[in-house]
Amino acid sequence: MKTMKLDQEWSGYVDSYINGETQLEGVHRMAEMRVEEILKYVEAQSPFYKEHLRNNKACSKNNYRTLKGLPYTTKNDLRTADTEVCCVPFDEIESYYETTGTTGKSTPCPRASIDVQSSGAYVKNAVKEIYQSTFGTMNALTAIMGPSELYAFGDTYGGVCKDLGIPFVRLWPESPRVGLEKAAERINKLGVKSLICSPAVALALSRFYKSIGIDPRDTSVGQILVLGEICTPEMLTNISRIWGVQCTHGLYGSQEAHTVATGCPEGNLHVSETNYIIEILPLDGYAVDDVGELCITMLVPGAKPLIRFRTGDLARLSPSSDCGCGNKSRCIRIFGRINDTVTIGGRQMYPSSIESAVLNAVDSAWGYQVNIKKGNSDTDELEVELVADIGNQSVVLIEEQMTSHFGVPVKLLLQSRLDPRTETGAYVSWKHARIQDWR
Ligand SMILES: [Zn+2]
Repeated sequence: MKTMKLDQEWSGYVDSYINGETQLEGVHRMAEMRVEEILKYVEAQSPFYKEHLRNNKACSKNNYRTLKGLPYTTKNDLRTADTEVCCVPFDEIESYYETTGTTGKSTPCPRASIDVQSSGAYVKNAVKEIYQSTFGTMNALTAIMGPSELYAFGDTYGGVCKDLGIPFVRLWPESPRVGLEKAAERINKLGVKSLICSPAVALALSRFYKSIGIDPRDTSVGQILVLGEICTPEMLTNISRIWGVQCTHGLYGSQEAHTVATGCPEGNLHVSETNYIIEILPLDGYAVDDVGELCITMLVPGAKPLIRFRTGDLARLSPSSDCGCGNKSRCIRIFGRINDTVTIGGRQMYPSSIESAVLNAVDSAWGYQVNIKKGNSDTDELEVELVADIGNQSVVLIEEQMTSHFGVPVKLLLQSRLDPRTETGAYVSWKHARIQDWR
């Protein structure tokens, strides 16, 4: 009974923000109370947090809003604590997921109905806006191209499509029952209008079509929502060009953190404001442009709220006025994982700035991989492998442009295919997929 009341209260709170009855200032004013509520909740329900926040009394009330004085929660904490972090017995959750386990042991990510509702409301609103902007209707057959096994992705979008009356088909190319060929064939046969997939899958599909003599721009697809790995503005433009479609972000989030932000028709990500306190933690050596580690406190009293969780992702927050779409939530840009940062010529480079530099130099690229090597005089050199149609562009000029961006000599290698691991970005890491460090 108590749970149902809480579910209703939260869904009313989230809806009133999304439909404009509550303003962003109102949500931020509520934050202090929400932080107090969630701290009480996790201390009472989660064996891990009971111990972890033992000295919470030291955190004075004035600090609730800033959370200063509270310990961080790290990925390592979650691996060690396992199910002890959870606040709800598994018989009372809505569904169970796990992290992929590619960066260490998998951790449990149960979701209660309150999690699914409060997170899903943002995804639903974003999808509605984007479909309205691209098609002017929800009647656009959609291929959900991601797993729905231990991962929330397919269920989240399946639920949203159902709620909005968007017809959908589950077509995950990596499923053993589907495969790239069948997925590509079904898109054409069924007249699929919208794809929801990782950037790597969007590129792999376009390469496949090209290999069988079909220009992706001649397919029925008119829109692609990408998610699951970093996606720079240059990559959004690249996919838009290759497919001749509207391409924007689906969402940014994870199994653990749920939907932290959702995409808009202008190609930006907007924070799910009611559900999180966002902190950007400054990092040594990353002194540029207010970029820091994204740290979130989940305010929804669900199955596994996390307090001051260090996501390991580089991010920057900016006001909603940075985007012209009319969404009043702040914009967030993601620059990749901290662990995927690479030092080139003595300079630290974010994953996103490497991707931007490569894609900026050519009109369109079907795939890329960067090899970092030591040159003769012990300086760094890059070999950029590209699957691209460079048309009239000169290789020398492209190399020069990249060289000035990276600050080290760059050699361009045009390829017809790349190492298969460039396909794995969403499942292992961007660095594993895109960078080969030979130093
Ligand atoms: Zn926007």
